[in-house]
Amino acid sequence: MPELPEVEVVRRGLVSWVRGRTITAVEVVDPRSVRRHALGPEDFAGNLEGARVLDVVRRGKFLWLPLADTPAAEPGARAAGGTIQPSVALMAHLGMSGQLLMQDSSVADEKHLKVRLLLSPADGMPEQLRFVDQRIFGGLFLTSLIPTADGAPGGLAETPLPLIAEEAAHIARDPLDPYFSFDEFYRRLRSRKTGLKRALLDQGLVSGIGNIYADEALWKARLHFARPTDTLRRAEAARVLDAAREVMTEALAAGGTSFDSLYVNVNGASGYFDRSLNAYGREGRECKRCAAAGLAGVMRRDQFMNRSSYSCPVCQPRPRNGRW
Ligand SMILES: [Zn+2]
Repeated sequence: MPELPEVEVVRRGLVSWVRGRTITAVEVVDPRSVRRHALGPEDFAGNLEGARVLDVVRRGKFLWLPLADTPAAEPGARAAGGTIQPSVALMAHLGMSGQLLMQDSSVADEKHLKVRLLLSPADGMPEQLRFVDQRIFGGLFLTSLIPTADGAPGGLAETPLPLIAEEAAHIARDPLDPYFSFDEFYRRLRSRKTGLKRALLDQGLVSGIGNIYADEALWKARLHFARPTDTLRRAEAARVLDAAREVMTEALAAGGTSFDSLYVNVNGASGYFDRSLNAYGREGRECKRCAAAGLAGVMRRDQFMNRSSYSCPVCQPRPRNGRW
């Protein structure tokens, strides 16, 4: 499953190739990959052909391409200032193994090619955007763009607009979003009766933090995953959020070298996980922080929501007497 930094790597890579180009033809190779488009593959293709890609936007792990000039767009979707107000977007759900690849037409089809978009010619750029997916959990579909609840941009974009893909409207802003409100996050966190990690994974509270980044952020902030959220002090909440932001930013920096590759590839794009993990997957190994301080912390693994939580019992202790 791609984490937020991997999806951001895809967004940055993709936008430089597709922005401003028109989709001239669409081939749905495997209808299962457009199954989320309720009106079927023909409607999907028909509404994409002739559309111009305005941008690539991300919130959390949701990625979408706002479109202009689609047949589905309502007439008069042009604001008074003459700027284009898109009303439709192409949603790309990467699932477990989805990839968006830019390829020249001369390149042979990938084994798991699912959808092919032909783009208008652009100097030195490949003609095709291919959606390749080995396990078919991902997919493409068209969605409406609706105004954001807070009037701020819908997500990270090159030319941010106060619009959001309908499918992503229910999720909160992610920690890398400049419009993320810490005050609101803290107020809502305090009002919940739940554990801290469960809250961090709740996309309605803060989006884009997956299991790995939650463990890394909690370790960095020296907080236990089961910490009741209604006992969290403001400084502690800020610490864990800053930690999440830091680990994601580091991962993003590590993925930076693949940005100019023709392959806009989700899988292993950052290479970050092999090198930089402090908590996740380190069961039985010494805690790096404790080791540096001459302490004997050994990382442990606990069952958590059908998955695992990795933490250090010495520097991220569970309370003995119920008080935090
Ligand atoms: Zn430790």
